[in-house]
Amino acid sequence: MGIEEKLPAGVLLTSVEKLVNWSRKTSVWGATFGLACCAIEMMAAGGPHYDMGRWGMEVFRASPRQADLMIVAGRVSQKMAPVLRQIYDQMAEPRWVISMGVCASSGGMFNNYAIVQGVDHIVPVDMYLPGCPPRPEMLIDAVLKLREKIMHEPLGPNGRKMLEARKARGDVP
Ligand code: SF4
Repeated sequence: MGIEEKLPAGVLLTSVEKLVNWSRKTSVWGATFGLACCAIEMMAAGGPHYDMGRWGMEVFRASPRQADLMIVAGRVSQKMAPVLRQIYDQMAEPRWVISMGVCASSGGMFNNYAIVQGVDHIVPVDMYLPGCPPRPEMLIDAVLKLREKIMHEPLGPNGRKMLEARKARGDVP
């Protein structure tokens, strides 16, 4: 009898999923996308004092083709919105988005016609980060939470939807 027949159904597939997700979560590279004052804190998080290299994130990529994570750091103007969407579209799947700061998440103090009132009008957001600006520790905390999310994400093009279904069933936190 082969080992596959001795194991309960789904065990091997689950192991591959965990292995792939582990490699994804330990090599999340951010796209350089600082938009306003929040970007200063994002740059500080990338410096040696906070050492994001501990989580395989020591590089921010200028090319969206080489990035998995878009950190929207600052308010998004209406003029910048199509640029942001284009860069997001150029990133390969799987890709994730962190909305950094109250301005990116809701427009913040810029409640006017020139600013997008929440970047989730433009791209799907995985993590919302409060604060004005959020400290580097908060960004690192969001990254760590995102890593947990990545670890539970099913493989394949419908991974996001399947993750929501798993959450609804209470299978993942
Ligand atoms: Fe600037 Fe605060 Fe808005 Fe961040 S949340 S872009 S620090 S005003």
